Amino acid sequence: MKIKRAEKYGFCSGVRIADLKVKRFAAGGGRGAILGQVVHNERVVEEMEKLGVRTVEEIAAVKEPTIVFSAHGVPPSFHSRAKSTGLQVLDTTCKFVYDIHREAKQALENGYHLVFIGDPKHREVIGYTNDLDPSAYHIISTIEGAREVEWTQFEKIKIFYQTTLNSADFEDVVRAIENVARRVDRADTICYATKENQDAARVLAEDPEIDVIVVIGGKKSANTKHLWEICRESKPSYLIQGADDLEATWFDGAEVVGVTAGSSTPDYVIEEVEHRIATF
Ligand code: SF4
Repeated sequence: MKIKRAEKYGFCSGVRIADLKVKRFAAGGGRGAILGQVVHNERVVEEMEKLGVRTVEEIAAVKEPTIVFSAHGVPPSFHSRAKSTGLQVLDTTCKFVYDIHREAKQALENGYHLVFIGDPKHREVIGYTNDLDPSAYHIISTIEGAREVEWTQFEKIKIFYQTTLNSADFEDVVRAIENVARRVDRADTICYATKENQDAARVLAEDPEIDVIVVIGGKKSANTKHLWEICRESKPSYLIQGADDLEATWFDGAEVVGVTAGSSTPDYVIEEVEHRIATF
């Protein structure tokens, strides 16, 4: 069986830097706890725990001297809260996420009502909205949600996307707002890394040589799930976390297997999967 990797896959620059920062910190003897997963990948979380940097769900649970903020970022107030409880901060927030924080702040100052297209429970979206007055923004994820709001009450609206979304999937949602609102501007906030991985997954899925596709990534990773959705439109596709999830029967009669991975999947997990496929 031949394996063909997507042209672009796996760790994005933001996650690569976050991963490196935490590893360097641990190697230097640092003791800390990460607020939420440093990246959405269970293997990376386990690896960090082995290095002595566990994952916690709230600032109050940190017993170590340092709190680590993940690549997805946190609400600005979390920095001052952590410091006021005597914690040091290791900030691994991706610079693209900070760009959106800045652009949203500027839009607010310029009189826009903010609309975040995304998952209200996602840490990145919580980071943008938690500190804002609830009347200053909406978080919308469905067309039904978009239709429930009286958009004409706002003079101008600025749309932001959660970085890891496939904007094409939400075109109808944004159009539903644009069709009724007085003025709508869109911020270009889909991360290039996500887009490149998605475009490459599309090419992989349309490759006539490929019989079946394996998409590797964490269970909670939104961008991995999007890659899987793209692939399964054209080919039998399986979403796995690692080599142990593979089933030999998926590859019955297959000659060429396509492989891609979400932006929080480390290279060694991809290699383990490919080695296991080669044994079938
Ligand atoms: S997907 Fe993009 S925005 Fe998110 S961490 Fe990676 S580089 Fe940053």
